Amino acid sequence: MADPGVNTADAGLAIGQARPFTAALPKAAHTRSVDEIKTWVARAWELCYLDPLASREIGRRLVEHGGSWAAEGWLQVALAEVRVGDTTLALDALRRARSGFTSQANQRGTALCDEVQAIALRRAGDFQGSARLQAVLDMRNDIVRDPMHEYISLNSRAITTKLLGDCDKALRLFYAALDAAARTGWIGPRITALSNLGGYHQDLFNLEDARTLSEQALSMARDAGARQAIVTTAITLIIVYHAIGEMQQSRAMAEFLITNNDSLGLGDIKRLSLPLALGHLAVGEIDEALGKLEPGTTGALSDDDGMTFWAWMKCRCLLAKGDAPGARDVAERTLRMRQQRAMVDQPYDTMALLRALADACETAGDPAAALGFLREAHARYEQLVGRSARARYTALQVVHQLAETQRERDVAVDSRRTVEDDRRRLVELNAALQVQAAETEMLHAKLREQALRDPLTGLHNRRYLFEMSPGLLELARRQSGTVCVVLMDLDHFKLLNDTYGHAAGDLVLQRFSLLLTQMLRRSDVVCRYGGEEFVAVMPDIDGEGALAMLSRLLEAFQEQQSDLGRKRLPRGSFSAGIAQFPRHGNTLEQLLSRADRGLYSAKNQGRARIEMAPRTGFGTLT
Ligand code: GH3
Ligand code: MG
Ligand code: MG
Repeated sequence: MADPGVNTADAGLAIGQARPFTAALPKAAHTRSVDEIKTWVARAWELCYLDPLASREIGRRLVEHGGSWAAEGWLQVALAEVRVGDTTLALDALRRARSGFTSQANQRGTALCDEVQAIALRRAGDFQGSARLQAVLDMRNDIVRDPMHEYISLNSRAITTKLLGDCDKALRLFYAALDAAARTGWIGPRITALSNLGGYHQDLFNLEDARTLSEQALSMARDAGARQAIVTTAITLIIVYHAIGEMQQSRAMAEFLITNNDSLGLGDIKRLSLPLALGHLAVGEIDEALGKLEPGTTGALSDDDGMTFWAWMKCRCLLAKGDAPGARDVAERTLRMRQQRAMVDQPYDTMALLRALADACETAGDPAAALGFLREAHARYEQLVGRSARARYTALQVVHQLAETQRERDVAVDSRRTVEDDRRRLVELNAALQVQAAETEMLHAKLREQALRDPLTGLHNRRYLFEMSPGLLELARRQSGTVCVVLMDLDHFKLLNDTYGHAAGDLVLQRFSLLLTQMLRRSDVVCRYGGEEFVAVMPDIDGEGALAMLSRLLEAFQEQQSDLGRKRLPRGSFSAGIAQFPRHGNTLEQLLSRADRGLYSAKNQGRARIEMAPRTGFGTLT
């Protein structure tokens, strides 16, 4: 990225274009349709990282709407409050969400409540408790997580792990969160993930990755008008640019924040005073920097981290003003305080402070002290470089692994697409076969109909069966699905013909065919196999399912009454054999021959029954 946002006019424009996220929120009207409410629930998730206050607002409207949506609403309120608001309000909302989800036995909902709970624990400083709750959640395998749910979980685990000091694991989690964020298809999680990752690389002194990721995050955040992320990444970048010696960039980034103060809604700029001072210091604007460092101007002095950061800048400013003893005094006092209070701070800040102190000692004419502090600074530096190298290595490793996973996912998507293509082609073929007849000439249509259909019953014929079945079987093979092939034969049909005449036989054949078309699924291929024999090829059903289906068919057929003229015909029955792909064979021929074995056995056992193909024996099997 050539220009990460130093053009403030341009930046202002981008931020000014921020969409009014809360515009057109749902009204609390009971007239809203379920689909509309669902859209707003999705919108709340989409916005919860981009504009938490907007998603909190949607959450409140959902609560007003009441009913089963109230729990979803409370969850949004809880998530927003715990991240950018008031923890007490968050816990209250969480309790209400939880009771709503419990009454609906909603596993996903209660798991998300636990995620928010873990964030609340972390915010209260109970990192261990937060990690324990997350570990419990990770062991639950009854929750189906969508990418947003995954993102929230991974991001939160990354932050907890980072605070517990496991750098490698935290880094891996941040990258996994970035991957999940990309899968949500939403910009908010992606920006937050990039920004968090950039910030963490900065912590780890891996400035190269910190810079690239933060610049990416800032550019996306500006396009989307995501104020919170703009401020966070800009602060990271002020520090990163300074650390890699790009002083103008550092200053420009500070300027960017100052210029856009209003549109970013920064209001009280106190918490930004240290990075802004750094921006001034970077280009030698010492008085401006000192102005930002005045106690009372900055809110950062109360926390340890801010203290060291503040002291090294103060020390640098005083040095620049020619006040070496003053500089030395500030630095030494802070270092003493660090020791006494066992302060935890960024090694980078301590290193910078030690270097500044060494310079102050040298200027003040105490080279021995200067050397001592320089050595200490160098030790910190080595520590940082080690951390940085490790972070860089882990980052490369993780990026590689994620690319691998992505490739695997792509392959899976591709193969799914192929199956879907096949299915579509099959449907198209089916449609084409039927539509073609209407589209071509009458004669052609008739010929084709004759070629594929049985004229007496209107069912498809053998030829159609043998044309269609390989495609169905291939599809099932790819999807690891099942197909049942059923062979049916009317019982004592010769007797019916002999007693009541051929017309009676024809009528029964027609009525049985009608029953078949009515009772089997549209996706089943049903054909008259010959004489009084019928075949059904039934995709996506197993032997048991087919058996149940056929039993209902037999019952219906046995109940069916037919009259020929004034003559009432006796009720009929059929026998059937079922073979299942792939258990009984891979080709239609194999399956038919196994189904025939079942049919044979059904006839032998007295007819009017359905038998599964025998497990072993007859037929070639692979
Ligand atoms: P089973 O219970 O063992 O199957 O006895 P079945 O009498 O049904 O068996 P068989 O195979 O001996 O007889 C089948 C009869 O079906 C013989 C044939 O005349 C009759 N048939 C075949 N096609 C038609 C047709 O299109 N119309 C009529 N009416 N009868 C047909
Ligand atoms: Mg027969
Ligand atoms: Mg028969």
